[in-house]
Amino acid sequence: MDAQSAVYGIIGYPVAHSLSPLMHNTAFKELGVDAVYKLFPLKENELDIFFAELRKPSSPIFGLNVTVPYKEAVLEYLDNIAPLAQKIMAVNTIVINKERKLLGYNTDAPGFLAHLVELQFNTRDKKIAIMGSGGSARAILAVLCMIPERPDSIKIYNRTPERLDNLLEDLSARIDTSIAEPVASVDDLDIPGADLLINTTSVGLKPEDPGLVDEELLHRELLVYDLVYNPPLTPLLKMAKARGARVANGLGMLYYQGVLAFQHWANVLLDDDIKFKMRQALEKGVSQSMRS
Ligand code: NDP
Repeated sequence: MDAQSAVYGIIGYPVAHSLSPLMHNTAFKELGVDAVYKLFPLKENELDIFFAELRKPSSPIFGLNVTVPYKEAVLEYLDNIAPLAQKIMAVNTIVINKERKLLGYNTDAPGFLAHLVELQFNTRDKKIAIMGSGGSARAILAVLCMIPERPDSIKIYNRTPERLDNLLEDLSARIDTSIAEPVASVDDLDIPGADLLINTTSVGLKPEDPGLVDEELLHRELLVYDLVYNPPLTPLLKMAKARGARVANGLGMLYYQGVLAFQHWANVLLDDDIKFKMRQALEKGVSQSMRS
């Protein structure tokens, strides 16, 4: 990297654990691009100044990812928001163009769908159960309600019911959420009758975390998708596997959202060889963090 290198990065708090630098710096290296992807841990009171600096012609930053807790907070700083991100009302990717205008995208939602396609799971007429109502649930619930391959139903549970109610009320102002039903307990998710169970909570990050559902509810016809990818086999996925269910962690979603973000920044389509190397970098990063 020299004084002219373009800078990309991720803003959030905390961001130290992020695997995104591994993926994006691999792509820059493979493409021979003089750019570097950095971590920007920002406190809430630092956002104003960060975005003011970003607009200066002298700023070397041309693209950002946004993570917890700022995916909604960044909206007010943007000049333009892509239609999907406007519906979801959350942005995880920002492009800064030559005029220093800020364009916001949501690549979490299509990243999740791309992983479902890879898993050969078609959402049409399926019964879906979701746990959690935070930022990631917002993107996933919204896109599942909008996709042409419309699920039959989506039952959603959150520990804090008010947050779930607020999420549904907010989304329903812009999206047809009629297939989504808030439920009062995990039992009401009707997991025995579901085709897909998605954990969007942060429970599972620690190996000693609970599995969140009763093991007997999990079954062979179910795909259990945990957004947590570190550890790769979360307590929920371990239980699901033992019950003969299909399992997937969120590393695929992380990968696809990252590829889509990179393509927005660079305005190119990445070829399969580079994408493969980005994914390998992520997988290596997870296994290294497991050992450390
Ligand atoms: P948020 O902080 O926005 O939301 C957290 C959610 O977890 C809330 O629904 C919260 O419920 C719930 N929760 C937290 N602790 C508990 C608990 N002890 N019991 C029950 N529910 C709990 O986080 P995000 O939605 O942004 O992210 C959630 C997880 O998804 C994180 O682990 C994150 O790393 C992962 N993620 C993965 C992505 C990927 O690409 N694979 C992308 C984005 C996120 P409550 O409202 O009651 O507090």
